[in-house]
Amino acid sequence: MSLWKKEEYKHISLENDIEVNTLIIGGGLTGLLTAYYLNNKSSCIVEARRVGSGVTKNTTAKITYLQERIYTKISSLTNKSKARIYLQSQVESVKDLINLIEKEKIDCDLVKTPSYIFTDKKSKLSKLKEEVYFLKKNNIEISKSSLPINYKNYASYKVNDTYTFNPLKFLTKLYEILQNRNIKIYEQTKIIKIKRENNKYICFTENNKIIASNIVFATNYPYFLFPLLMPLKSHLEKSHMIITKYPKYLNFSCININKPTYSTRFYKTNNNIYRICLGSSHNTSFNNNDKKSFSKVINEFKIQEKDIIMEYSNTDIITSDYMPLIGKIKESMYISCGYNTWGMTNSILGAKIITDLINKKENKYSKTFNPKRINKSNIIKLPYYILSNTYSYITSKILKNKSWYKNIKTHYKIGNDISVYIDENGKEHKVKNKCPHLGCGLIFNEVEKCWDCPCHSSRFDIDGNCIKGPSNKDIKLK
Ligand SMILES: Cc1cc2nc3c(=O)[nH]c(=O)nc-3n(C[C@H](O)[C@H](O)[C@H](O)COP(=O)(O)OP(=O)(O)OC[C@H]3O[C@@H](n4cnc5c(N)ncnc54)[C@H](O)[C@@H]3O)c2cc1C
Repeated sequence: MSLWKKEEYKHISLENDIEVNTLIIGGGLTGLLTAYYLNNKSSCIVEARRVGSGVTKNTTAKITYLQERIYTKISSLTNKSKARIYLQSQVESVKDLINLIEKEKIDCDLVKTPSYIFTDKKSKLSKLKEEVYFLKKNNIEISKSSLPINYKNYASYKVNDTYTFNPLKFLTKLYEILQNRNIKIYEQTKIIKIKRENNKYICFTENNKIIASNIVFATNYPYFLFPLLMPLKSHLEKSHMIITKYPKYLNFSCININKPTYSTRFYKTNNNIYRICLGSSHNTSFNNNDKKSFSKVINEFKIQEKDIIMEYSNTDIITSDYMPLIGKIKESMYISCGYNTWGMTNSILGAKIITDLINKKENKYSKTFNPKRINKSNIIKLPYYILSNTYSYITSKILKNKSWYKNIKTHYKIGNDISVYIDENGKEHKVKNKCPHLGCGLIFNEVEKCWDCPCHSSRFDIDGNCIKGPSNKDIKLK
């Protein structure tokens, strides 16, 4: 389920062995933008499901450098100079994305939309002012301005040179551009194993293999543990979104700077006006009750049941220092992820850095966002990551068969590792209740009807098909 619809097109899957210069794994914003900038006919994209079916599918799609209070967080976890570099990269990336959309004449409902940051807690006013001070010191035109809706806040500030769009319309056009350039995109083609042989990578799908000189991981959370050790460098944040009807279109987006995050934007089609209400953001390790999280969003935005059109959740990676992880991880192997829920800007940034690295060109940002960097944030946050991984592993084992609806029995367990979901028609759907990624227990998400892993956010449908990584395997019963 998603607010963003993409035009349907006939897709192709890989049906024979091939050899390419660069294999891009993942068909979200990062993967397609990397292929666009690389512009190499001897490259291809493989996507396990369909283009845009990952985190990109349920993004709020605000193209902005006003990212709650990210710059003061980066300053305190690294230093001011790194925060300045990150700010510069985001301002440039907003411009780069807009230039690309205009140059290619991509119809994706792009609207210039002012962005606001605000706080709904009086005690956080000084934090808000600190962020605004940093932005002003770095030549950003930000001014005090009331929110255009009646929403509890103690102060709000706005910038004007930011945008909103429809990310799946954008991806569909980018797909067409790549097709016209003869760059192949193989959908429903999952990479399940990679081997290094004679200075090349051999990448296996279920039935075929791809030999590649370079590999780019554009898979969001990587499905492998080494060498990045992502669970010790980041956590996953889940947010809940409710899409409602709204009587009039308001051209602004806003986000509060304190936890839990609440954010909103509007979207208009020829026939309808929608409001995206996002809230109840939390580390997936510490909250598994989706029903309660959706209720919190309903209460916070005072949503009436009759206005609800869709409800869904989405997760993204939060890195220890709030900066993305972009660059080389091994010989001829690259990654771009860790966008801290700001992937519209960071995916284009990642695409440009990786293109330069593959083409052996200088890139002014490659050192700062190097995925193997170690700084004080890694040391400060290490105990937190150890605690959250251990906590989520243990609670996932305890809670894996808990039903949050006290009065409806939707599933039960057989033995230790088999769970059953009984659908509205009484049909039983049995799965193996163990995440293939690192062995955590899975918790049934009764709102979206899927099995979610609280540890690193893999997701499986009721029949056990993996619909979101890092797991690269299904949980079907053999
Ligand atoms: C609630 C929420 C709201 C957000 N709102 C905003 C916003 O307003 N503005 C903003 O800038 N950012 C926002 N973001 C962040 C942004 O949506 C993401 O960072 C971005 O979409 C990530 O894109 P991606 O291409 O890197 O990953 P994805 O879109 O997840 O793409 C990765 C793809 O890789 C594929 N894949 C995985 N493993 C394999 C494999 N083994 N073989 C082949 N394919 C594979 C997956 O199927 C998937 O399609 C938000 C994030 C969240 C969670």
